[in-house]
Amino acid sequence: MNISSWSLEQFHSHFSSEDACILYLYQSKWPTGFCCPRCDHRHAYITTTRRLPLYECSNCRHQVSLLAGTIMEGSRTQLCKWLLAIFLVSRTHIGTTATELSQLIKVTYKTAWLILQKIRTSIQQADNHCPLTGSILINSAIYGRPFNPTVHRHPQEQLLLIGSSIDQAAISTMIKIKHVIPNQPHTKHITKSDTYSFQQKHIDPMVETIELVTGFYTSKKQRPLLEFAKQVSTWLSTTFTVSDLNIFKRIWTNSAIVSI
Ligand SMILES: [Zn+2]
Repeated sequence: MNISSWSLEQFHSHFSSEDACILYLYQSKWPTGFCCPRCDHRHAYITTTRRLPLYECSNCRHQVSLLAGTIMEGSRTQLCKWLLAIFLVSRTHIGTTATELSQLIKVTYKTAWLILQKIRTSIQQADNHCPLTGSILINSAIYGRPFNPTVHRHPQEQLLLIGSSIDQAAISTMIKIKHVIPNQPHTKHITKSDTYSFQQKHIDPMVETIELVTGFYTSKKQRPLLEFAKQVSTWLSTTFTVSDLNIFKRIWTNSAIVSI
């Protein structure tokens, strides 16, 4: 089931009930049928009197729920709403603010905010486990309106490093954008230490080819990822409120990943 290519209508049509969501989670967790996480036994007794089924291993009596180990564990929010939130945040341009999400999945602002935080944390963890591979291109960029071309950074300008995996057909297959916090608060320069840190955290150590262009006076032609950064900056500015952006900025420090 390739949900990533679904339209919103297809999503609603398929996940129209809690039972459909439970079935999907069961098949995702145990694609070949139940398997006890403690003893690998393949048979369980199912308790269905609860809101969600509970599976008890018939060998060691270990009990496990479908939500164990997921970002939904412990939540009383309906599965349909959780899955819709994950779908919206990961696959569409809507539902990315807590206010908007609360209206779309019909929960309180507080619940929507918590759901978004959990989804973003999960994306961050996935990002950490998914380094850039292949040939790598790294460019510098600035988030925020450029105020002047001097070496001094305006407080609203934020330094970015963008890394891209380039395949053999010279096409970007994955891009990561990271917020750089310089040691010198007003400088516009990205130091060797900054780029080294980026490479250590976000590039596979087996990568052999890295092209690095970080000078702000180099031409746009030498920084082809600049246009992408500009599009992301515009999307952020038009999508989030100021308070959202402050939250997002903290998340962005460690996590922004785009698969193409
Ligand atoms: Zn067991």
